[in-house]
Amino acid sequence: MHKTCTCGHAMNMKLRTVIYSGKVEIDNVPIYSCPSCSRSEVLPEVKPDLTGLIGQLGEEPAKQTLLFNELNEWADLLVEACSKRRTPDLTAVQQIIDERIDSLLELLLLASSVGDEAWRLEIEKRLSQLSRCTLNT
Ligand SMILES: [Zn+2]
Repeated sequence: MHKTCTCGHAMNMKLRTVIYSGKVEIDNVPIYSCPSCSRSEVLPEVKPDLTGLIGQLGEEPAKQTLLFNELNEWADLLVEACSKRRTPDLTAVQQIIDERIDSLLELLLLASSVGDEAWRLEIEKRLSQLSRCTLNT
């Protein structure tokens, strides 16, 4: 989860609002930013979901505000971690991830046992977003 900027400084992780097409505000997008040269970039772990979202909005989106953390597990966990501390502590984030994975696995068993296929797929998608992140830490 640590990243070094091209200028050599350690980058910080933050939640930012991304404005798309001047109309759509996407809140709580996790980004890395450099305190030294102000360079910033979206976390690679959430990039596919962000680009997918922008793809869905199309070229002429309606004016709206979206919460990225409602679409991406990773962003949601960071929002949770940031609500407890101003800067997310890596150990705290990892602990929250572990707890979230446990509760998602429980939900997955429940969804399978009631035979709700759509729900099961949704939970699997959330789990896959999380495992993609934990592999990279
Ligand atoms: Zn820099």
